[in-house]
Amino acid sequence: AEDPRLKAITEAIRVVPHFPKQGIMFQDITTLLLDHKVFKDTIDIFVDRYKDMGISIVAGVEARGFFFGPSIALAIGSKFVPLRKPRKLPGRNITGAWYLGEVISEKYVLEYGSDCLEMHVGAVKPGDKAIVIDDLVATGGTLSAAISLLERGGAEVVECACVIGLSHFKDDCSVNGKPLYFLVEPR
Ligand code: AMP
Repeated sequence: AEDPRLKAITEAIRVVPHFPKQGIMFQDITTLLLDHKVFKDTIDIFVDRYKDMGISIVAGVEARGFFFGPSIALAIGSKFVPLRKPRKLPGRNITGAWYLGEVISEKYVLEYGSDCLEMHVGAVKPGDKAIVIDDLVATGGTLSAAISLLERGGAEVVECACVIGLSHFKDDCSVNGKPLYFLVEPR
């Protein structure tokens, strides 16, 4: 039988047609965050799944992966690593002044145009076991870039996790050969 919490999670997500542009059915998880029980259930489901798997890194995709990742990381005793949009991660140069940080970058193609994710060099180490978290997987392009960053840093990516997954992933629940886990489908 299906977990009864999943129905409430589905219903707590607001669907906004034509945002941010014509034709997109935007899945807005800010309404889920406003419902304490549903928000807690969402985190608990991920925590129960990952708590005994030796996960050392939860990597969150900017921006909505940041809403879920840190709570999961704290509960399972792992670190949180933000995977950020370009030119957000700082560092310091030899004079001590701020400077763009030493990062590795991964470009990826979107439906219209391209985007990029960055991770601080040294945030993950060989031997780390990581999961990647985001709110939603559509084509899987974003998660693929996240997987590449973590693997280039030497981490093993155990699984990708999302709150919402498009139904075409039902048959082959993987992204770039890594298992994909999601809680609900869009309405
Ligand atoms: P993709 O790389 O195609 O799997 O797209 C996933 C990324 O785009 C995630 O970071 C989502 O937050 C965002 N995204 C794509 N489609 C939607 C949608 N219909 N509603 C909300 N977010 C979306």
